Amino acid sequence: MKFGGTSMAGIERIRTVAARVKREVEAGNQVAVVVSAMAGETDRLVGFCREASALYDPREYDVVVSSGEQVTSGLLAIALQAIGVPARSWLGWQLPIHTSDAFSRARIGTIDTEALDASLARGEVAVIPGFQGVAEGDRITTLGRGGSDTSAVAVAAAMKAERCDIYTDVDGVYTTDPRIVPRARKLARVTYEEMLELASVGAKVLQTRSVGLAMKENVRVQVLSSFTGDDAPMADTLPGTMIVGEEEITDVERQLITGIAHDKNEAKITLAAVPDKPGAVASVFGPLAEAGINVDMIVQNIAHSTGSTDVTFTVPSADLARSLDVLGQAKATIGYDKLVHDTRVAKISVVGVGMRSHAGVASTMFTTLGERGINIQAITTSEIKVSVLIEEDYTELAVRVLHTAYGLDAEVEAA
Ligand code: ASP
Ligand code: MG
Repeated sequence: MKFGGTSMAGIERIRTVAARVKREVEAGNQVAVVVSAMAGETDRLVGFCREASALYDPREYDVVVSSGEQVTSGLLAIALQAIGVPARSWLGWQLPIHTSDAFSRARIGTIDTEALDASLARGEVAVIPGFQGVAEGDRITTLGRGGSDTSAVAVAAAMKAERCDIYTDVDGVYTTDPRIVPRARKLARVTYEEMLELASVGAKVLQTRSVGLAMKENVRVQVLSSFTGDDAPMADTLPGTMIVGEEEITDVERQLITGIAHDKNEAKITLAAVPDKPGAVASVFGPLAEAGINVDMIVQNIAHSTGSTDVTFTVPSADLARSLDVLGQAKATIGYDKLVHDTRVAKISVVGVGMRSHAGVASTMFTTLGERGINIQAITTSEIKVSVLIEEDYTELAVRVLHTAYGLDAEVEAA
């Protein structure tokens, strides 16, 4: 069981979590719980580090920011004991959870489960702070923001758990953002690959890295709501969304498209009149790669009669200023004429393993958007995803019409 920051925000909520854990224990399950820090706490701790020094030592940063989870793991153990459930906390260094020494963004290596197994065998609930581990040399590490999801999946994998239940403030993964499309449906199942695509294009339910790990280790992950009372369905009845391997999805369930995601955090850059010759594109993307900037969509036109071509691509909005700087410096080597950019763009993606075996998914997308007068500025595809770049103002409309076009709208119940 993994509980996020909202579920851990304050003693009252921690008591609710404890009651929820107790129900699972009473149902005969052995339970390890991974917890986040109280909501807002990690931000507060990061702020302290920055205030103490702009050039803080990342090893000490990890000591500071990992403390939020130390507090909540101890508090949950106390709350469990108070309602008669034997429990103890196991900090990252106590198990230990071995990680790399990339402080503030470490990767989990192996987890020693001996102590955990023994603890569960004694009938205790093991409470494990998410987000933290220990590197060689006994120094505390953290996994990068949102890393508790990854901790939970890693612990589940190491313990060969039957399931990793991620309790969160939504009750599952939806076909699209229900705030945009009220008729969005909760998915009973989604594959790892689909979830990875949906997570990386802006459906922020789980840390992307945790989904990759679950796929690699074959951990069955359930996303379910933490906000429900005693009458809430038991997790074993699978009330949330299961993230599973493709082989578990039956043909009846298989839809052409599983979900639609949108992402407004990209910016478009166009280099006008780049010479049409070998090495030209490399001279554009080489310097960006060296600067650690992740380029996403790329469009290159065929050459004009003048022997030059336009190159358009997207970068994360947060990296736009740096990208423009890098490209400005490389102007002479690239030999482009003009550099223009646009932050008022959005990427809309349709995702589904069903498109592997079906033609026409992209054309439905283009036709649907065209009929609404929505212009497509760039396109990328993978085996299970088609993404288009459009003007940001049309985001909601695009998501809505595509949701209908792919038959994803929930039936409206008869009055
Ligand atoms: N507390 C950490 C964060 O806010 C880890 C997590 O909650 O997943 O990033
Ligand atoms: Mg989270």
